[in-house]
Amino acid sequence: MTNRFLTLLEHARRDGVPIIIDGAMGTQLMEAGLLFGDPPEQWNVLPDKRDKVRAVYRGYLDAGSQVILTNTFGGNPFRLKMHNLQARTFELNAAGAAIAREEAADRVVAGDIGPSGEIFEPMGTLTYAAAVEGFRAQAEGLAAGGVDVFWIETMSDLREVQAAVEGARLAAPHLPIVATMTFDTRGFTMMGVSPAQAVEELSKLDLAAIGGNCGNGPDELEAVIYAMRMVNSDLPLVAKSNAGMPKMVNGRATYDASPEVMAEAARRLRAFGATLIGACCGSTPAHIRAMKEALLNQPPLDPTTLTLTVPLARRQEASHERRERRARRDAAQLAG
Ligand SMILES: [Zn+2]
Repeated sequence: MTNRFLTLLEHARRDGVPIIIDGAMGTQLMEAGLLFGDPPEQWNVLPDKRDKVRAVYRGYLDAGSQVILTNTFGGNPFRLKMHNLQARTFELNAAGAAIAREEAADRVVAGDIGPSGEIFEPMGTLTYAAAVEGFRAQAEGLAAGGVDVFWIETMSDLREVQAAVEGARLAAPHLPIVATMTFDTRGFTMMGVSPAQAVEELSKLDLAAIGGNCGNGPDELEAVIYAMRMVNSDLPLVAKSNAGMPKMVNGRATYDASPEVMAEAARRLRAFGATLIGACCGSTPAHIRAMKEALLNQPPLDPTTLTLTVPLARRQEASHERRERRARRDAAQLAG
């Protein structure tokens, strides 16, 4: 049985071409009227909202995305429980995947799995077994909806990635898995994982691709990709950066990198070693269209002529200010 995603990866490897992923879902749904703090996954089943989810998928497909992620980022039972929707885990994930499958036709549908939002014991209360079980429940819905690959993202704890991988494998052992982490804390994840450590650990899990997503914009992600590529020259790398560094405006994180800026960033991420390139929070189909155009129609950059935009030392100097900004953002999100 051939798998659409593995076939795409094989073509990319053989022909030396990048793969275009999609952009943001959450910020696009907010544009369409989703209220801050409301569960986006519920829109997968609301008769008057399903078409808005469909329209986001369509927008990215029309912009040239070869892979779209399902509207299920918060679709694990831990996050759904905050909205008393945990009993509908299977249904919400299956619906989000089924709409994507209808729109994508022969293109790749990736079943989006985000973090639980909980912390493992002993610091927190989440047990490994409960995490596996929760992610398995989500992955069963995604598989039933017809995804081609599981896409675990925005992770900061390696144990949680492992639990999600295990849960996904229990649900659908035949589907490939991608996992990306968010390196938004001085070049590390919130739980202190470095890009090199991520590669070392994740490469033991038999994943189809790994990488970085979300975070503080493409300047920091290119350093992550560079560091990952140094450790492992073989695994396909995913770069899915936010549309710039988040800025607080009226207590809300906003993103202001233009499509042109993200297009140039895409060429640099490609040169530093990324194969699967898309964007995260704050991006739109216009960003993806410009990135695709730059990646496919402009000559590739020569990596030996490039230097990292944000070298390690400067990232460390800037970290204090950034920590403060993140604390304000987190406070605003809790308030929402
Ligand atoms: Zn993001």
